[in-house]
Amino acid sequence: MTHWLSVAVQTPAHSAVAGPLTYRSELPLAAGTLVRVPLGSREVLGIVWAMADRPEAEGSEAAIRPVLGALEGIAPLSAPWRQLVAFAAGYYQRALGEVALAALPPQLRDLNAVQLARRMKARARKAGEAVATTVEAPTSPGDGPGAVALNAQQTLALAQFQAQAGPFLLFGATGSGKTEVYLHAVAGLLARDAAAQALVMVPEINLTPQLEARFRARFAPLYGEQAVVSLHSGMTHPQRLKSWLAAHTGAARIVLGTRMAVFASLPGLRLIVVDEEHDPSYKQQEGARYSARDLAIYRGRQDGAKVMLGSATPSLESWHHSRPATAEAPGGRYVRLAMPGRVGAGSFPTVRRVDMNHQPMKTVFSPPLLDAIRQRIARGEQAMVFLNRRGYAPVLHCADCGWKSECPHCSAFRVFHKIDRTLRCHHCGFTERVPRACPACGNIDIAPLGRGTERLEEHLAELLAGATRPDGTPVRIARIDADTTKLKGALESQLAQVHSGEVDVLVGTQMIAKGHDFRRITLVAAVNPDGALFSSDFRAPERLFSLLMQSAGRAGRDAEFVAAQASASEMWIQTFHPAHPLFEALKKHDYPAFAERELREREAAGMPPFSFQALVRAEARTQEVAQGFLNAASTAAQTDLALLPGLDAVLPRITLYGAVPMSVQRVANVERAQMLVESGSRAALQRFLAAWHTILRQTRARPEHKGLIRWAVDVDPLAI
Ligand code: ADP
Ligand code: ZN
Ligand code: ZN
Repeated sequence: MTHWLSVAVQTPAHSAVAGPLTYRSELPLAAGTLVRVPLGSREVLGIVWAMADRPEAEGSEAAIRPVLGALEGIAPLSAPWRQLVAFAAGYYQRALGEVALAALPPQLRDLNAVQLARRMKARARKAGEAVATTVEAPTSPGDGPGAVALNAQQTLALAQFQAQAGPFLLFGATGSGKTEVYLHAVAGLLARDAAAQALVMVPEINLTPQLEARFRARFAPLYGEQAVVSLHSGMTHPQRLKSWLAAHTGAARIVLGTRMAVFASLPGLRLIVVDEEHDPSYKQQEGARYSARDLAIYRGRQDGAKVMLGSATPSLESWHHSRPATAEAPGGRYVRLAMPGRVGAGSFPTVRRVDMNHQPMKTVFSPPLLDAIRQRIARGEQAMVFLNRRGYAPVLHCADCGWKSECPHCSAFRVFHKIDRTLRCHHCGFTERVPRACPACGNIDIAPLGRGTERLEEHLAELLAGATRPDGTPVRIARIDADTTKLKGALESQLAQVHSGEVDVLVGTQMIAKGHDFRRITLVAAVNPDGALFSSDFRAPERLFSLLMQSAGRAGRDAEFVAAQASASEMWIQTFHPAHPLFEALKKHDYPAFAERELREREAAGMPPFSFQALVRAEARTQEVAQGFLNAASTAAQTDLALLPGLDAVLPRITLYGAVPMSVQRVANVERAQMLVESGSRAALQRFLAAWHTILRQTRARPEHKGLIRWAVDVDPLAI
């Protein structure tokens, strides 16, 4: 008997087929089964999505191709998993097959049936051995090896978490012991339910090793080594397949990962933790531009899993969603759990602002800051200096003729990297040796303008020359940024040097501000954070505040260590705007005050979370073509969509802005433009985008837009 199946396969982006394709099969195959099917002249991996109807058109049956085979030994992907993928594809405006296949480990697509069968056998054998060594699970949560007794605020947060359905926002200060709460929540779950699985997400691959070590130490002795697996893009394909299979079969009880892990197949999923939920890296920036944090909320509801978002500086969206009810208005959808204090007697660093208006022109390190750093070194404590710009100098400049190191392919300057004497474009990667003389006038005196971390480190080394540690040896300065950590393992070894105390002063970009549990840092300094105060991006202040709070959070994490030192820990801010409300709130460690003010401004201006946005981006050889496409699609939306049933009611709720160049408008000789779409209703925006997609495709097909290279929609964009 012939069965008709609709199968999700990877089709090209924006092809007319956004949904699954129909295939025939002699065997009945359950939805979710992984299959190999012909597509064009290739054989590809597909996922049986549903039973299809018998083709209606006369003679069309013969044109339908057969499924070549099912991947044996791999259980079908669950209905909630398929629902998650379908939702993500719809919400983020991508083809179902693209999202579904991208959610699977690459090796599933690449391995043939025989290779795969071999992997499965090896896995099953190992799993058998692991079970043999598994020890008895503890009877009460938090009894595990290395478990610490929760303090009062942790206990209260955990009790609230266990008593309610959520989703939860754990608003816990840096060093308040959030991770410990996650560990206890997971421990309780695994002990209660022998089939339960937990998904724990972190924003950066860099942060996974530390977290993995903590989870492994706690849970491997209880449930075996197999029970804790990681999933992130830094893993090799075989490693990813292994972790994915462990999660899919239920052998892994805990999956730790970055944003991609939100799509892991977890049949026993009962808990999702999203640590540092405010972090922009939860938003995928290419292909399907999904937000793993937002999908986690959706998935939790779908799978019946509890969701806990955690942060010391929540996104304003999550803060708003977790607002408590008042006499006038109901509360948000999330339950807010607060842990305001630090573990132990830990106090927050004192925030010191240096008014740069009162410093000599071009001061990089003000004397009081430098003094404070010197004192730390002399006492054997550590300091961290933070500047969000890598390289030596952002521009190289000729004072004679005004030449600047522009990138010939981008509307941006190439950055001067002194270490290998190159000019590098951070947008397209174009790299050249630094010219000996000005390429325009021949002047040999070309000079760096501004400074990045490389120059900051050099400058600091000069200023601190002669400074010594308590044992009389010279001060040691290290730098951590994307340039120093390119090689595999480099970051780990550099962090290890900081942890072991080999380094006295650490210079770096935001890379060092996030999450690391440094124990001996008692001073953190932001030398030039003003740029974000007046940015055209409305989210810039939010990002700056959280970055500064997170950086401050690196200081004084070890209450005992700090108590043994001569002075409290400090966070230094050098600024030309010391009275800015953002710094006022920072000084008081008052995230709620900052958030309230920002949210009031957003509400007045009708910005997220009080409105919903999407961006359509277009790329072409000229701005004219890129913008022409966007504006034509916008006009067509307004004329054609009104005719569709139901959309006449949606259109008045949508604001379509004109096409504008992107802030870096040319990259690698490609001109980039964007158009903002806004609505006060998420549902209206979704309905509009779904209908508009067809028009965008039709517009693109017209001859006058032939020069268009590509276009894409970004729903809930993070940067405008
Ligand atoms: P956060 O994730 O909120 O920044 P962590 O969970 O990393 O904080 O906790 C900070 C430090 O305090 C860690 O070294 C952790 O082991 C320790 N810690 C957390 N909770 C407790 C507790 N109840 N008793 C003792 N130490 C704790
Ligand atoms: Zn010149
Ligand atoms: Zn470039």
